[in-house]
Amino acid sequence: MVVGGGVGGLVVARRLALGGHHVTLLEASGRLGGTVSRHTVGGLDLDAGAESFALRGGTVATLVGELGLGEDIVSPNPEGAWLQPVRGDAVPLPKMSLLGIPGSPMAADVMAILGGKAAFRAFSEALLPGTYAAKSVTLGELVRKRMGPAVLENLVAPIVRGVHSLEPDELELDRVAPGLRAAMRRTGSLARAVLETRTTAAKAGSSVAGIRGGVFRIVEALSADLVRFGVDIRYNTRVRDVAENRVTLDDGETIEGRVVVATPGLLGTPVEAGRAAVLATLVLDAPQLDSAPRGTGVLVAAGAPGIQARALTHATAKWPWLAERADGNHIVRLSYSAEVANHAEVARSDAERLLGVSLPASSVIDFARVLWRRPNRQEHTPEGISLVGETASGTGLASVVAQAEAEAQSLLGDFAQ
Ligand SMILES: Cc1cc2nc3c(=O)[nH]c(=O)nc-3n(C[C@H](O)[C@H](O)[C@H](O)COP(=O)(O)OP(=O)(O)OC[C@H]3O[C@@H](n4cnc5c(N)ncnc54)[C@H](O)[C@@H]3O)c2cc1C
Repeated sequence: MVVGGGVGGLVVARRLALGGHHVTLLEASGRLGGTVSRHTVGGLDLDAGAESFALRGGTVATLVGELGLGEDIVSPNPEGAWLQPVRGDAVPLPKMSLLGIPGSPMAADVMAILGGKAAFRAFSEALLPGTYAAKSVTLGELVRKRMGPAVLENLVAPIVRGVHSLEPDELELDRVAPGLRAAMRRTGSLARAVLETRTTAAKAGSSVAGIRGGVFRIVEALSADLVRFGVDIRYNTRVRDVAENRVTLDDGETIEGRVVVATPGLLGTPVEAGRAAVLATLVLDAPQLDSAPRGTGVLVAAGAPGIQARALTHATAKWPWLAERADGNHIVRLSYSAEVANHAEVARSDAERLLGVSLPASSVIDFARVLWRRPNRQEHTPEGISLVGETASGTGLASVVAQAEAEAQSLLGDFAQ
């Protein structure tokens, strides 16, 4: 029995059904996919949640291939994103960096953001032994100790908040940057480890990908497979409580069987307890954006005056297939970490400021806003229950799919004994 039909739950349910097991999937809402979802804005079917996935580990791409969507995996525009610092206008993100950590701290594009003093402080980490801070648990701890707080606040935090919706002190280093710690020990410096990792990544090509037509197509294909493999899907079925080999539904019904929990956070934790992630989407008639003035988008440093968004994606500049579909119009996605009053106007004004062009109200063809609640990390998993999904794996489809596949393999092994 799988509780929760987000990508984590769908992957496990599919793998267990493929292994010949009878699977029941219990989903609280009337649809599958969780935060991978579709909405229609300005007449276009767009992702209302995740819009890309990391290629790290290859697990998502393998799954997508199995689902028959391999031909539709697309790379983003390599132009890259910009950074809105606290003071001044947006600047391109330093070219040689990883999660904002500069590989060449004294490079002109780094000094333009940090200033000379903080850049020199970061540069000096190369004098420390490679073992210094090598036991750091989080990305935040490592960067603060080796390169100083300015790199953390001005470069790393905006990227981590914009991409992962988390603070650097919440991101486990080995999860978000596998291999970086070992490279630092080997090369003797964090900057050199970044350069080494970047060179390897550059040889492998882009580190993220999307799906032509939208990432939500992965959920549509997973759902079709579940139906084909005979999974019993029960919609509008909220599980109230789980115990070893038993779940209790909201209406008091109990169902017996091996339980896999794939819901955000602890069952019983009110959904309002999770943090908010609000996605605002603008469809714009704005030829002044044709030149993609800020590359694929802008990450925002906390405290940038007058801007409430924490990140902006110029989706039609990032994804050529989407530009074709949008037929000359532009799609801009902005993310917020709290609900915002008068959101359509705030999003328009944030986009205007971040993209550095005038976007009068008359250029807005359509606006949509989606509020998601994200889980807090789970500290304990009750005995005898398998846990998959973001709560167990960390955020992002690459982590969720890899962990769900591994958990499914382990369960299939248990069943075979
Ligand atoms: C706005 C936004 C943008 C994102 N962009 C990206 C991106 O570009 N790339 C990327 O890799 N990741 C992105 N992510 C993160 C990614 O979408 C998630 O990490 C991943 O989809 C989480 O999957 P999940 O299965 O763990 O959980 P969820 O998607 O949260 O699904 C959980 C499911 O469980 C159901 N459920 C909850 N409680 C119960 C209950 N009591 N009983 C039964 N069912 C229940 C829910 O209805 C839901 O269907 C984004 C997230 C958000 C919010």
